[in-house]
Amino acid sequence: MIPGPVEVSPRVLSALGGPPPSHLAPDLIAAFGESLRRMRALWRAGEDSQPFLVAGGGTLAMEMAAVSSLAPGDAALVISSGYFSARFAEMLRRHGIGVRVVEAPVGEAPDLDRVVEALDGDGPFGALFATHVDTSTGVRVDPRPLAALARERGVLSVFDGVCATAAEPFEMEAWGADVYLTGSQKALGLPPGLALMVVSPRALEASAALPSPRPPLYLDWQAWLPIMKAYEEGRPSYFSTPATSLIPALAASLGEILDEGLEERWAAHARAARALGAAWDVLGLERVPVRPEITASTLSALYFPAGVDASLLARIRERGVIVAGGLHEAIRERYFRIGHMGYAVTRPEMLLATVEAVAGALAAGGRRDATEEAIAAAAGELGRASPGGGSA
Ligand SMILES: *Cc1c(COP(=O)(O)O)cnc(C)c1O
Repeated sequence: MIPGPVEVSPRVLSALGGPPPSHLAPDLIAAFGESLRRMRALWRAGEDSQPFLVAGGGTLAMEMAAVSSLAPGDAALVISSGYFSARFAEMLRRHGIGVRVVEAPVGEAPDLDRVVEALDGDGPFGALFATHVDTSTGVRVDPRPLAALARERGVLSVFDGVCATAAEPFEMEAWGADVYLTGSQKALGLPPGLALMVVSPRALEASAALPSPRPPLYLDWQAWLPIMKAYEEGRPSYFSTPATSLIPALAASLGEILDEGLEERWAAHARAARALGAAWDVLGLERVPVRPEITASTLSALYFPAGVDASLLARIRERGVIVAGGLHEAIRERYFRIGHMGYAVTRPEMLLATVEAVAGALAAGGRRDATEEAIAAAAGELGRASPGGGSA
């Protein structure tokens, strides 16, 4: 239950078996094309948007977006809600882009008034970058007003959805966002290894118009564009070998989410977060995000209670559940993180086992044993009278 890699579903697991397919095999080409079309559906992106699917991490998707949308000498506005937003700023600076950061205190989301001030006072900016859910703080930023503010000013908007895509509501076309990117090992429920993003027509036009020298070849949307078009049209092509073993699993995972219903998936994440949140309240675990409206549904970032330290993680692990330590520099030693995204949110028994392990570990560390109350609180939110019954 770390914030990625996450548990994968049986359907995804079975799609992962078998010898590595050729990138030119008809089945692989079909799965690749189907994946691109399903990305558009899952991103709620327009028919004229362009999905990209490239071997690499979420960080690669971030870097492609940074260097394919802006040229050295341009300016960018980074809305920072934690560790991963800071990474965006670092990438942009390294590419010679002038960076203005609007930063929120730890646990807060950036203030929209300050974003407007920066957009109108410190620009002109070529693009705005924000992190939908920052995995270091568990803070969720609302992309909708940011995309609208950017569009009103002719600024591109780029959203890091690595800890959010397919879990938190996002409507790329309706909200007017230009880039939404993710990695395979988070809420999409696959092993690590794929960088995924969908790009709006105007962002693609901006990338086509970048001056020479072009961005680094592997990071240039324009270098990948013919390959994506070929796969979607069912034609073989080659630029750099795709992660062929992962593509059939991706098609399966996106298909599974769409079969279940994207909105049902969003609701399942919200329900899981409510259930776990009820348990954390019983256990007296304070959240890093300071308000419910900005608390992500995909992970819990929890302060250690008084008298408890990071040794708690080992006691949780002894109880069969793996959770993650702190990541944000300012509070690293004071909190821990529990991922709840992808397949796990559809499995009440996994969520309740997590509550049981955390509650048991706290009790083993000398705190009052509130395991039963915590499980009951979570089970109540999941619509289950008691653990072990039918699925919610
Ligand atoms: C995990 C994560 C990343 C980085 O993804 P990698 O696959 O580890 O490179 C970037 N942004 C966010 C919000 C993440 O959660």
